[in-house]
Amino acid sequence: MILLDDLKNKRIGVLGFGNTGKAIVDSLEASGAKIFLHDDMGVKGLQYQKYCADLLDEEIVKSLDAIIMSPGIHLFWPIPHKTVSLARKYGIELISDLDLFQKQMGKNIIAITGTNGKSTTTALIEHIFESAKKNSCIGGNFGPPILSLDDSCDFYVLELSSYQLEHANILGFNTATLLNITPDHLTRHGGMHGYISAKQKVFVNAKNSIIGIDDDHCAEIFDFLKGIKQQNIIPISGKSVPDFGIGWKDNHLIDNRFGRYEIICEKHPKLDGNHNRQNITAAYAACIVNGISKGDFITHLKSFECLTHRQEFVACIDGVAYINDSKATNADSVEQALMRFDNIFWILGGRPKEGGIFSLQKYFSKIKYAFLIGEAAEDWNTLLTSHNVKTEITVTLEKAVKRAYEEAKKETPEVVLLSPACASFDQFKSFEERGEKFKEFVRNLEK
Ligand code: ADP
Repeated sequence: MILLDDLKNKRIGVLGFGNTGKAIVDSLEASGAKIFLHDDMGVKGLQYQKYCADLLDEEIVKSLDAIIMSPGIHLFWPIPHKTVSLARKYGIELISDLDLFQKQMGKNIIAITGTNGKSTTTALIEHIFESAKKNSCIGGNFGPPILSLDDSCDFYVLELSSYQLEHANILGFNTATLLNITPDHLTRHGGMHGYISAKQKVFVNAKNSIIGIDDDHCAEIFDFLKGIKQQNIIPISGKSVPDFGIGWKDNHLIDNRFGRYEIICEKHPKLDGNHNRQNITAAYAACIVNGISKGDFITHLKSFECLTHRQEFVACIDGVAYINDSKATNADSVEQALMRFDNIFWILGGRPKEGGIFSLQKYFSKIKYAFLIGEAAEDWNTLLTSHNVKTEITVTLEKAVKRAYEEAKKETPEVVLLSPACASFDQFKSFEERGEKFKEFVRNLEK
């Protein structure tokens, strides 16, 4: 746990009580702060009841020294949380756990952000650091909340979401990594402009800046960074080798930082596709600038096990592979799976995001059969059938798996792919629960 200097006896509001909020309260408690805890949904857990306070009450809010927000709290769009508005009215400081962590620890943070690939890249970097016997730990949006981390690590490998970056006031990471940007979370950020602004904050005062240049938004940010002479900027690509950067040629990872192509290693058998190549490239750059040798990187990359729910192989039944890509909640991440396979039985749907699956139309000819679930089913059914895709609205995931299995006996697709292009919250607690259920339903088929 991280202990916070300077907060003893200070009156601190905590807004939001999920995993992050709990870690904030624990840390404040151990640091001797006076805690005022509020969650619009109420606070569960007996030991926390004593801290409950109504942070919608003007008198309480104006009596505070600061308020620490969980990432889910809306600062601006669609409307600010009422407590945020009150805090602004009375000039109460609004901060985040990341600010406190930066202030307290102020050392070796390797930050990873991007629309897709954050968790894979974060886990890969941590795997290599740990295997190379660096004293490191992983946290943030993936893994334990930031303030619950061990305070004695030399390196902190942190996955940061756009929500966390939007809240951040103190910035200056040792290594800032931005993988890619495609539209996501637009309501929360007030549109693409707000989303990009949040993401690019990762580079403010960074010592090493690693940036994917495979999409136009990131390519523009790269040009901007060059213009302001940011320290050590490394462009990376999952498709080609950038000038003075790191990328891929003929299935090999190439280090071209110094303008001469140095072959590092071959592609990874399980972590492949342009998207995973982008993740490997980012991880290589982050490792190298932090003193990991090329030899250690190559050795430990080989032993990395891919994360679950990301194009995860579940079973092969009657020659058909069942793939769990439950983490693919937006069109861009689904695209990676649709690019990889042919002859696809596609299970999709859930709570749709802005833009939906419109951008995936060029892959519709690869879809042999689509099974639609959740809130998006009706609309997407109309879109898919207008492209002559055979469809069925199964409503539930269980039924979708069963129907895909029955139809697969007749048509033998290459894969039955759960890659929903949607959030899971209409039918499941999380993408993890959705993926676990998919695996359970598939395993039941084999019985
Ligand atoms: P995040 O933590 O950013 O959501 P994950 O590593 O959990 O990223 O992967 C989420 C989804 O995105 C999976 O479906 C995965 O196959 C896909 N994906 C992984 N890396 C990338 C990338 N660099 N670009 C696009 N999609 C990716």
